[in-house]
Amino acid sequence: MLPEIERLLILQDRDRRARTLKAELKTIPADRTALETKLSTLKGQANDARQKQRAAEVEQARLDTEIRSKREQIAKYETQKLQTRKNEEYQALNHGIDHVKREISSIEDRQLELMETLEALKPAVAESDKAAAEAEVQVKKQIADLESKNTNLLGQIAELDSARPTHTDGLDEDLLITYGNLFLTKGEAVVALRNEVCSGCHMKVTVSTSASVKARKSIVHCEQCNRILFHEVH
Ligand SMILES: [Zn+2]
Repeated sequence: MLPEIERLLILQDRDRRARTLKAELKTIPADRTALETKLSTLKGQANDARQKQRAAEVEQARLDTEIRSKREQIAKYETQKLQTRKNEEYQALNHGIDHVKREISSIEDRQLELMETLEALKPAVAESDKAAAEAEVQVKKQIADLESKNTNLLGQIAELDSARPTHTDGLDEDLLITYGNLFLTKGEAVVALRNEVCSGCHMKVTVSTSASVKARKSIVHCEQCNRILFHEVH
């Protein structure tokens, strides 16, 4: 193999690794955001459940007060009944008492409903609290993992970057520019010629191109895609 080709293949292998590592590095912020979103959603759900519970408790207390005041109203009517001598007034007070009693009974129905609601909310609150607490622990660990992955990737990338000059040193500048452009635009710059077919664009090359590649005396490009070709020995 042509020494330049050999060196370009090593360079390409390292550049490919650096590219993969950089792509992986790029996904970290989104992964982190996804984890944080997941956690805040669960916390929000736990908060909603607790707020529902609190609202029901407040309503329950309000109904208690309402019943108490209605009972006071009945007591007042009862006292008035004892004080009156008029039959009409007496009947009116009785009506009033019945009316307030019906009101109390409908409030009590509402209280029963609320108690059922609160009973049903209990497990939901406990469950969502538990889910949020568990997610918090889990997400913290996952974020720590992401951070160490980030550090690790940065280290590997820095290593590849700093060692790159030793792999390009001595190579023709124009060749390096061509290589760089091909690598950037086509993904691969140096590709194998297999059975007269460029493994980059999968097109058959001309007989003379094929012969030049096999001669291994110069850098030969695919006439279709311009990638640098090397003869793959089976
Ligand atoms: Zn090609």
